[in-house]
Amino acid sequence: MQISDQIDDVLCRHRGLYYNSKNNTLEGELFLPDGDGYSIYMELDLYPRFFPTVYETGGRIPHKMDRHIYPDSGSCCFTTRAKSQVLLKTSIKSLLEFIDEIVVRYFENNSYYEINKKYFSDEYSHGDNGIIEGYKDILGINDTIKAARLILQAAKAPKLKIHQDCYCGSGKRLRKCKNGSHLNQLRQLYLIDKDVLKNDMLAFKDAIDTYMTENQD
Ligand SMILES: [Zn+2]
Ligand SMILES: [Zn+2]
Repeated sequence: MQISDQIDDVLCRHRGLYYNSKNNTLEGELFLPDGDGYSIYMELDLYPRFFPTVYETGGRIPHKMDRHIYPDSGSCCFTTRAKSQVLLKTSIKSLLEFIDEIVVRYFENNSYYEINKKYFSDEYSHGDNGIIEGYKDILGINDTIKAARLILQAAKAPKLKIHQDCYCGSGKRLRKCKNGSHLNQLRQLYLIDKDVLKNDMLAFKDAIDTYMTENQD
């Protein structure tokens, strides 16, 4: 669907928002299903390569990392760049889905925090650890070294080899392991742009150095 059509869908459903064509932004009041609302400013320039950048402009959320706002830019922290690419190529197919499934949920989570002083859903850590957690989640493994090796392979090789042994160490062929779910998870890794993979490899460097030091002898 054309982005202009996607914007029309959003405006039709979210009556508090308007499109500013000069800045390529969606702005105004985003109403949540429970009637609560947040003033937002949403830059569409990165979309659909990455999630749009969203700012809460009503001053309701403190600009702190533990409130999922990047202190330097003031934008909302939804998920990692890699995970946003996987979601945009699998389950989030339009701007309306992005708003309803990611943005609305984010603000609902914040409203919950305002009352309960905690979030109702778990999120990734911030910084390098969060990037690593994101990849382990995509792959369904808890091994940093294995994850790093797979990212390196995906960044270098254009094609997925489905006849290889599974990355999880089960000894089964990739396409047969866990009824094909590991193959599907590895396919998600190949949806991430090479430059994102290469950049995220840096996050793994410290974790791998620590592992190498601990396992030297
Ligand atoms: Zn966050
Ligand atoms: Zn497996």
